[in-house]
Amino acid sequence: MARRCAICERSARVGSKVSHAENVTKRKFRINLQRVRVKKDGKIQRILVCTRCLHAGKVEKIK
Ligand SMILES: [Zn+2]
Repeated sequence: MARRCAICERSARVGSKVSHAENVTKRKFRINLQRVRVKKDGKIQRILVCTRCLHAGKVEKIK
């Protein structure tokens, strides 16, 4: 299962890590994903949703 938001499908982006000596290596900028219980397509399911979608109210959270 990919680390990807189930709503907007955003996933990690790649950038550069630059040390003090300016050695450059690849790094990943992961998105803030939360496993939440939501109602989707009329069913209650546990999906990975990014905090951006949670704040925007794009999912209906079930307690
Ligand atoms: Zn999202």
